[in-house]
Amino acid sequence: MILLPYARRGFHYNNYKYYLEDRFGERVQRVSIEGGFTCPNRDGTKGSGGCIYCNSQSFSPPYSDSRISIQKQISDGTRFLNGRYRADKFIAYFQNNTNTYAPIKKLENMYKEALEHPKVVGLSVSTRPDCINDDILSLLKDISLDYDVNLELGLESLKDESLTWMNRCHNVETSLKALEMVSKYDLDVTAHMILGLPTESKEEMFEMAKELNELPLKFLKLHHLQVIKDTRLALLYEKKNFPVFEYLEYLEFIAKYLTLLRPQLVLQRVITSSPDEYLIAPKWPHTTTAFIMSLQKYMRDNNMYQGDEFSK
Ligand code: SF4
Repeated sequence: MILLPYARRGFHYNNYKYYLEDRFGERVQRVSIEGGFTCPNRDGTKGSGGCIYCNSQSFSPPYSDSRISIQKQISDGTRFLNGRYRADKFIAYFQNNTNTYAPIKKLENMYKEALEHPKVVGLSVSTRPDCINDDILSLLKDISLDYDVNLELGLESLKDESLTWMNRCHNVETSLKALEMVSKYDLDVTAHMILGLPTESKEEMFEMAKELNELPLKFLKLHHLQVIKDTRLALLYEKKNFPVFEYLEYLEFIAKYLTLLRPQLVLQRVITSSPDEYLIAPKWPHTTTAFIMSLQKYMRDNNMYQGDEFSK
């Protein structure tokens, strides 16, 4: 029997929610903060136009707005999340755009302002693999002496052809070098991955799951490819529909994918859901909550667990 420390209440994989619950002794939610960052893939430094799928507005909750102070965004966000989840502790989550893309002093001030909020117990920073350096990592390491710190790296794929197709403007080597650099600082790292790119077969994605097992990661944030309005992907999709995951197809796929992962990895997400007004495809018949419940049932019925197919 594989030991999955954060698989409980029907989950057959390590769920971040239970990781946080164990860590802090109560429910903890991430509260998104809009720091007003841009991105080197938009401002011409690395590229222009951004990644093919990116419309950062599509994943901004209503309370996060860079025109509002960080403290107020957190207060509004925690009130909203407390009403929805009854959570009273929060991870300040710099999610949108590239949240290490600013001078170090500015980053320090922003992260510290977030951490000064009395309900905040940790920091999560999302960025690109080519936007970290020793100064940033030292700052995060210092903060991690007092708070939980999670660095989320958008790897998206471990195949160069896919990164080129997405217009990521970095390659796999950059991602691997970034992970090597981060591992010197002993930070908790998330790999953000997109599943269902038309440049990848299911077998290739399963192979990538095995490659992820070898990397110095604590968390994974997975989601299926979505076609979002006002993106270059939307234009492409309009011209020529390419296959995107169907609901049941993704459910079966992700269950199998989870069996390939090493049992220590904790899943921060296995699915995404963009607001209806932004989403072009795939349009699924059920909510994210329904999907997660169906996934639990499917894994239970088929006696599948994270790590079942993991081999060193
Ligand atoms: S996905 Fe990230 S790196 Fe790509 S354009 Fe959007 S903010 Fe920039």
